[in-house]
Amino acid sequence: MYLADSSGREMMKPIVILGTGLAGYGVAKELRKKGASAPLILITQDDGRFYSKPMLSGALGKGQDADALASASAEKMAQDLDAEVRVHTSVDAIDTAAAEITIGAERIAYASLVLAVGSSPIRPPMQGSGAEDVLSVNNLGDYARFRAALEGTKRVAVIGPGLIGCEFANDLLQIQRDVTLIGPDKWPISALLPEQAGRALQQSMAQAGAQWELETFNGDIEKTADGYRTELKNGHVVEADLILSAVGVRANIGLAKEAGVTVNRGIVTDAQMQTSAPNVYAIGDCAEAHGRNLPFVAPLLLQTKAVAATLTGTPTEVAYPHMPVIIKTTLHPIVTLPPAPGAAGAWQVEGDAEGVLGRFHNEAGEMIGFCVTGNQTAQKSALVKQMAPVGG
Ligand SMILES: Cc1cc2nc3c(=O)[nH]c(=O)nc-3n(C[C@H](O)[C@H](O)[C@H](O)COP(=O)(O)OP(=O)(O)OC[C@H]3O[C@@H](n4cnc5c(N)ncnc54)[C@H](O)[C@@H]3O)c2cc1C
Repeated sequence: MYLADSSGREMMKPIVILGTGLAGYGVAKELRKKGASAPLILITQDDGRFYSKPMLSGALGKGQDADALASASAEKMAQDLDAEVRVHTSVDAIDTAAAEITIGAERIAYASLVLAVGSSPIRPPMQGSGAEDVLSVNNLGDYARFRAALEGTKRVAVIGPGLIGCEFANDLLQIQRDVTLIGPDKWPISALLPEQAGRALQQSMAQAGAQWELETFNGDIEKTADGYRTELKNGHVVEADLILSAVGVRANIGLAKEAGVTVNRGIVTDAQMQTSAPNVYAIGDCAEAHGRNLPFVAPLLLQTKAVAATLTGTPTEVAYPHMPVIIKTTLHPIVTLPPAPGAAGAWQVEGDAEGVLGRFHNEAGEMIGFCVTGNQTAQKSALVKQMAPVGG
């Protein structure tokens, strides 16, 4: 736990946290709340400002720029957390045997290391003279570039009619853009919703002006004199001033993998969020716990509390309650608690274009998922109570 400083005095080794998103700053806050006295070092590739990432896909309609979304600077966070926050810094390697990280020629020894390095947008295969110009938004800097690029535009194409693509499209409609959503999906947000719920959203957004090009995309993006042009597999041509890609995220596992830490789709952890390497934890979008990536805020908040408890002497497993996902499509709001991927069973859906209520039952007749949309969203709490017990 101790190392010597330049004068030979013994110093406590720090807890090093890679990442200053909700997971990284979250675990630092929890550690201080629990009275941890260890030195804390947080390291981030970005500018270290604190912000709530879910606000990125609802900020245009509220007229908020990136500065308005950031609620504290890196300096303020460092002061509040009594921590060192290193910004615009990339960790190059982790030596798990020596318990050190490497930044260029510098090596920093850690008592514990928390990987909170997030996820990156998946880029669908795209080719053509305009492919490089396609934007994606996954942090404050991306959002600032996106907002600046929207100046003077009218037509925006969104590739990816999933949760994040639909939220951005909903937001773009609030600022009077002509929006076309494009993707191979059969219906919107098909990974999390039964068809009727996705169709209700599709209809509400169409009434607000959205064009839908579903079950079609070929990745060919060409520059034109006044913007971009993509010809779809169905023969339709979409012309746009700006193209946004939002086809999902992939956990950032590269650093851990190179260090020999076990990875799968995420950095593999046990129920305490401990990785295969001693004193190395992973939380947030980069982690895979119970065989699943859970790239949402509710699970990461539980993970930060559990890891902080473990690091302050109370080994704690993360126990997840039912965690419905709120989809911020204000034109047709949605709350969904989809069944685990691959779960056997079937959706039973009722409702109409104004609102849909769906229940997913397994073969034993237990409700293991639900969704509510539009005028049915008030049913959310009642449905959570009807769910089969977690892990049951
Ligand atoms: C547009 C959008 C809307 C969303 N809406 C919702 C919602 O409504 N509800 C919900 O629950 N979830 C939502 N999510 C998901 C949610 O925001 C994420 O699950 C959460 O913010 C992830 O936080 P994180 O701290 O794990 O990762 P991030 O916030 O991505 O932070 C990763 C950090 O790691 C740093 N980093 C990466 N690699 C290195 C390296 N090598 N060295 C140093 N630092 C490194 C980065 O600089 C960054 O500081 C949304 C996501 C997006 C993109």
